[in-house]
Amino acid sequence: MRYISTRGHAPARDFAGVLLTGLAEDGGLFVPEAWPHFSPADWRAMRGLPYPVLAARVMQPFVAGAIPADTLLSICKDAYAGFGHPAVVPLVQLETSLFVQELFHGPTLAFKDMALQVLGRLFDHVLAERNTRVTIIGATSGDTGSAAIEACANRDRIDIVILHPHERTSLVQRRQMTTVLAPNVGNVAIEGTFDDCQDLVKAAFADTAFREQMHLSAVNSINWARIAAQVPYYVAAALALGAPDREVAFAVPTGNFGNILAAWAARRMGLPIAHLIVGSNRDDILVRFLASNDMSMQAVEPSLSPSMDIQVSSNFERLLFELRDRDPVATAATMRDFRATGRMPVPDTAWHRARQVFHGFRLDDPGTEAEIRRLYAACGYLADPHTAIGVAAARALPPGHGIPVVAEATAHPAKFPDAMERATSVRPALPARLADLYQREERFTVLPNDIEAVKANVRALVGRNRT
Ligand SMILES: *Cc1c(COP(=O)(O)O)cnc(C)c1O
Repeated sequence: MRYISTRGHAPARDFAGVLLTGLAEDGGLFVPEAWPHFSPADWRAMRGLPYPVLAARVMQPFVAGAIPADTLLSICKDAYAGFGHPAVVPLVQLETSLFVQELFHGPTLAFKDMALQVLGRLFDHVLAERNTRVTIIGATSGDTGSAAIEACANRDRIDIVILHPHERTSLVQRRQMTTVLAPNVGNVAIEGTFDDCQDLVKAAFADTAFREQMHLSAVNSINWARIAAQVPYYVAAALALGAPDREVAFAVPTGNFGNILAAWAARRMGLPIAHLIVGSNRDDILVRFLASNDMSMQAVEPSLSPSMDIQVSSNFERLLFELRDRDPVATAATMRDFRATGRMPVPDTAWHRARQVFHGFRLDDPGTEAEIRRLYAACGYLADPHTAIGVAAARALPPGHGIPVVAEATAHPAKFPDAMERATSVRPALPARLADLYQREERFTVLPNDIEAVKANVRALVGRNRT
């Protein structure tokens, strides 16, 4: 399988190449040169497989030529072995045709583990083949940092340093990062804001000598491997509910459009998905696009569902490329206009195409809290604020269609104890394997908002591990 850039000016690469590169040199995103396709008989043959085996089967065409099938299978088995549920991605029924698929049984209790646990191991494999190492550096306001740290901890070929704003993350968020004591993990608390942390990471990457010495890399949400590793759970849910002999629909709480793009990919690969519903909070750029072809940037407003507080959904470019008949010139021009004017000019034909599959649904904070309360009263189900938006989005599909709708549950309710308690009077407990999180030893370094101090910290960690 070869990958091409949505903007047409980067050399094609295999899976290992796009894994290590992330963003293409022309600023575009990598997509498969041709979409793999499974027949109804192929899908039926996957029914009842254990999740790691299913995951390897679904991902196999994406890694073909770069990673052997047996290697991928052992990576998937190892990646999901530490999950806290034997089904890995269990379905819970809420109503006759409404289900929740729980993607939060990984080490950090959020869906990013689904892809990142695989990604860390893929990195290790490819880096070992090339006999090299990388240093991942990133900034976090809380959630993505812990998923990246858990993905990279104790990997042979990776060092990781994550910057967080000192005393500005929640306690559970900080402890999920700082209690990982692996020798290849560095936690740095910056005396500053999340924006300061991001600026420091940008400055580190902009320093060419430092970047090359340290082999700097990132695991950001545009990495194709993350999308590929998110396709299998859509397959698992659809097969469990009768596909390929019955249509299904998915509702996905959406931020950067990565999770729901994986659902679209599953559909493109032949899975009978009738509808995809984008769930959003008051940061509703995608909902405005779907309703009235208005993709215009607005200031980000904080909400109860912080992982969806976004201004621009970076993975949307991959869908745009498809909606524009894979025309890289048109895609590049559209993205250039979007950057320059804050408004994306999508032709009506492409917009209509999007609307044949995608629906938008928006819920503000009071609505989210009401949905959490309603779900707990009706089903005894504790849905975190992101998941509650997904469930409300699923319910927004007109009734009577007879199609089972699956809402993706992207975070464990114990990650948002205050919001849960306010809505339901119940303070959800951490799962047993994390119950001692607040007693564990922490390790982090507090540094001033100073790039030289950060670089010295990274050099010291990398120096210890390279020798
Ligand atoms: C990252 C995240 C999302 C948004 O996922 P995208 O792939 O960015 O659309 C939703 N919910 C939670 C809990 C997340 O961590």
